[in-house]
Amino acid sequence: MSNNAIRVHRRTKIVATVGPGSDSEDMIGRLIAAGVDVFRLNFSHGSVGHHQLIAERIRRQARHHDRYVGVLADLQGPKIRIASFETGSVSLTAGDSFRLSLTVDGEKGNSSAVGIEYQDLPKSVEVDDVLLLDDGKMQLRVDSVSDSDIDCTVLIGGTLSSRKGVNKLGGGIAAPALTEKDKADIRAMESIKPDFVAVSFVAAVQDIEEARGLLQEASVDAAIIAKIERAEVVADRDLLDSIIDACEGVMVARGDLGIEVGDAELIGIQKDLISRTRKRDRMVITATQMMESMISNSMPTRAEVFDVANAVLDGTDAVMLSAETAVGSYPVEVVRAMANAAVGAESHPVARTSRYRQDREFRSTQETVALSAMYGANHFPGVRGIATHTETGATPTLMSRLSSGLPIFALSRNPETLQRLALCRGVIPLYFDITAFDMRDIDSRTMEFLSDAGFVTKGDHILMTMGTLIGKAGATNSIKLLSIG
Ligand code: PGA
Ligand code: MN
Repeated sequence: MSNNAIRVHRRTKIVATVGPGSDSEDMIGRLIAAGVDVFRLNFSHGSVGHHQLIAERIRRQARHHDRYVGVLADLQGPKIRIASFETGSVSLTAGDSFRLSLTVDGEKGNSSAVGIEYQDLPKSVEVDDVLLLDDGKMQLRVDSVSDSDIDCTVLIGGTLSSRKGVNKLGGGIAAPALTEKDKADIRAMESIKPDFVAVSFVAAVQDIEEARGLLQEASVDAAIIAKIERAEVVADRDLLDSIIDACEGVMVARGDLGIEVGDAELIGIQKDLISRTRKRDRMVITATQMMESMISNSMPTRAEVFDVANAVLDGTDAVMLSAETAVGSYPVEVVRAMANAAVGAESHPVARTSRYRQDREFRSTQETVALSAMYGANHFPGVRGIATHTETGATPTLMSRLSSGLPIFALSRNPETLQRLALCRGVIPLYFDITAFDMRDIDSRTMEFLSDAGFVTKGDHILMTMGTLIGKAGATNSIKLLSIG
């Protein structure tokens, strides 16, 4: 019962990054029990072979816990980094001169200059640009640029260590989204079979299309998540909408995006990105530093609880943990804390009601059925949830674009569909093979199944959707209101 209570009552999904602090099979099992819905494999670290091993552990533990859990492979992308210092790190003081250079040996940086690998960096910056190092902890102002050197003055100093990231205030350090490493990683992904692949630093629709082509060539059937983390992308509404339409979901990648646009801007951008994405029928993950202090503390700060809650009230499908679960000391506790914060936020009316797209026409039979079911369910007391028989997951995904307090039971015989739906807010993925039953028995079998699983009891109503062509994708065309007798 407690298991079902968790599954029914939390609608917002939790994505947790696996890392050295959480990649044992035992810990993965405990994280699933604590409420993780999707695990993120971070391809910025570790070999493909290692990620494959972790993916196998996740699949095994998900089966063991009788849950459908997704795997998200997150590509490194063109994160621009400084090279290394001879001494590991240097101390920079405001007013110092400091040079980023293509000609300094990659291992031989010192307190006046450090190497860079990205050959086009000097072409992407201008005098008076502000460069942000190590997630914005240090700032440099560009004084002059040549073909190989960027000469700067330190504005905000600190300890700078090897291989830290470089961003530009306002964005625009152009580099193609898919690096050679990313392409090689995609080619090797067949062994991992991820449910989602995240493309970092997406700049254009072509980045998504290229990734999709490479995935197809590699026989990987994964949903694509576009990481929104460039200032120039959020500044261009048309570009943003075209990117959203090209993928299956987006990530509000607050780490890099926040550095480029500044935190004050980011507040509005998060709200806009979440509602924009939901309106365009795509999924959305809100990421980075949600419970950062729990890397080393067993409790979140109240501000962190409210950060998670805010993303939930904004309508996000999922909230994400990065270092908190990858390297932190309290991976299980942070998942529980995040789940509690989400449940708390979901009890607020803002998280449970919507305007039902009254102002727009539906685009397909499927959408008409999906949204009519939601409308009916939300307005007829006694309805305990929506049961939707689904092949591809499209109908429950559409249903969950509307805010509601009711669970959407997605019933499918396709494990891949169920794993993908693990990311979808309000959707409970359940294995149900509709083709095993006679058409005339499906109503009663569905009710029996949900009742046996403890989701409904005598007297409850369920709105059920299905297609008259059993087992066919995109064929949902009917709604029934059933009661448990
Ligand atoms: P990252 O992406 O953790 O891979 O950098 C997320 C972000 O930038 O917020
Ligand atoms: Mn990032």
